[in-house]
Amino acid sequence: MSGVLVALGGNALQRAGGSGTWAEARAQMRGTVSALSEIAASGHELVLSHGNGPQVGALLRQNELGQREVPARPLDVLGAETQGQIGYLIQTELPPALRRAKIERSVLSIISRTEVSLRDPAFRRPTKPVGRYYPEEEARLLRKRLGWVLQFDGARGGWRRLVPSPKPVRWLEGPAVRELLRAGLGERWVPVVAGGGGIPVVRRKDGGYDGVEAVIDKDLGASLVARELGLSTLAIVTDVPGAAVHFGRKGERWLGETTLDELVRFHEAGEFSAGSMGPKVEAGIEFLRGGGTRFLITDIASLSRAVAGEAGTRVRRS
Ligand code: ADP
Ligand code: MG
Repeated sequence: MSGVLVALGGNALQRAGGSGTWAEARAQMRGTVSALSEIAASGHELVLSHGNGPQVGALLRQNELGQREVPARPLDVLGAETQGQIGYLIQTELPPALRRAKIERSVLSIISRTEVSLRDPAFRRPTKPVGRYYPEEEARLLRKRLGWVLQFDGARGGWRRLVPSPKPVRWLEGPAVRELLRAGLGERWVPVVAGGGGIPVVRRKDGGYDGVEAVIDKDLGASLVARELGLSTLAIVTDVPGAAVHFGRKGERWLGETTLDELVRFHEAGEFSAGSMGPKVEAGIEFLRGGGTRFLITDIASLSRAVAGEAGTRVRRS
């Protein structure tokens, strides 16, 4: 049985311009799980990961509005909360779809921590925008009181907090999930792991771990997970059908079947934007160089056909 890691992003979880209700999240997930059960039905071991940007944004806002009565939680705790809510959502919606496809598998969500290094240059130069936009006056106050780094966004006319996005080094729950798969339990369980790239933690001298105010790129986190579990396929699901060269410009061309070498060449030529398609491609390059067999970029509608080699951007090691 070959293993597939599916990393769900953006659209697979939350509709752009939606109302943000839980009922809407469930409805969106119901559309996603049928594609996932098709992969399981074709005999693959299935491991899931997911992004959490909009969910962390909502929790930050809830914290901000409620902090007069309930102390706000730090960013690492919000990361854990989003793993809980999205894991619960998948646990609710995937089993009925699996049953309809006559597959006996249960879903297991694992609160996942990802070790990062305080020596990572990202801690000296925060780059990842989180939360809402603040007016100038408030931004100045937050900078002074909390030491936040904020960046002005001309298009939105406001300031936004930037946090470090360090590279994931080690997935702490990896050995446990690897043991589960080695024991052949991938035929009975679908693990949901490393949501939002994992909760960023740093190792203390005494061997314990502390959460840090940072976010890990979910695509790089998913790549680490796929390598640690020795899965053959990494499939990143997003809101476009694949990766394109000359994206959004004249001569735009969607990549279908391609090789690692070709992908690296396009990446070095700057074809994939930093912060969106760039990290997906980097995740794929790391995965294939780290022993993976196949890297896919696709949307949810084409996911099962992409796994079958018929749609999406499909990258082979050579
Ligand atoms: P996700 O939430 O799934 O991580 P992102 O918004 O981070 O989604 O990345 C997907 C987006 O990347 C697409 O919606 C597209 O606008 C953008 N993108 C940038 N460069 C490219 C490219 N070369 N080919 C395809 N999409 C690209
Ligand atoms: Mg993204």
